Amino acid sequence: MSDCLFCKIIAGDIPSGKVYEDDTVFAFNDIHPKAPTHVLVIPKTHIPTLADAEDPVFLGAFMEKVNHVANDVLKLEAGYRVVINVREGGGQEVFHLHAHILGDTSGKTKLPF
Ligand code: 5GP
Ligand code: ZN
Repeated sequence: MSDCLFCKIIAGDIPSGKVYEDDTVFAFNDIHPKAPTHVLVIPKTHIPTLADAEDPVFLGAFMEKVNHVANDVLKLEAGYRVVINVREGGGQEVFHLHAHILGDTSGKTKLPF
C-alpha cells in the first residue's frame, strides 16, 4: 500500500534497523523503544489491524514467525512480552498489522516494560 509507513519500510524506501526478513515477514527495531529490546514484526502483506486478519492459517504462521524472531534471532531466553494493539482505542498508531516484541537480551530487566 503506497501511503503506508510500514509498507515503505518493507520496500526499503524508509530506513529501519532490520533484525530479520524472510518471504512473509519483516522485523525491525522500534524507533521509540519501550524496553531494552523492542522489535516490531510485520507481515509483508498489508493488513490494517489484527481484527482484519481472519485467516487462522495466516495468524498461526504469523505468530510462529514472532516466536522465531524472539527465540532464534533475538535469543530472549529470559522471556519476552508480545503486544498487538488493535485500532485507536487499543493504542494502534500505524495501521499495518504489527506485533511488538519487548524484552531484554541480557535477562536483567524484568517486566513491567
Ligand atoms: P502501535 O502504537 O501502532 O502499536 O505501534 C507503532 C510503533 O511504531 C510505535 O511503537 C512507534 O514507536 C513505531 N514507529 C513509528 N514510526 C516508526 C518508524 O518510522 N520507524 C520505526 N522503526 N518505528 C516506528
Ligand atoms: Zn502497509
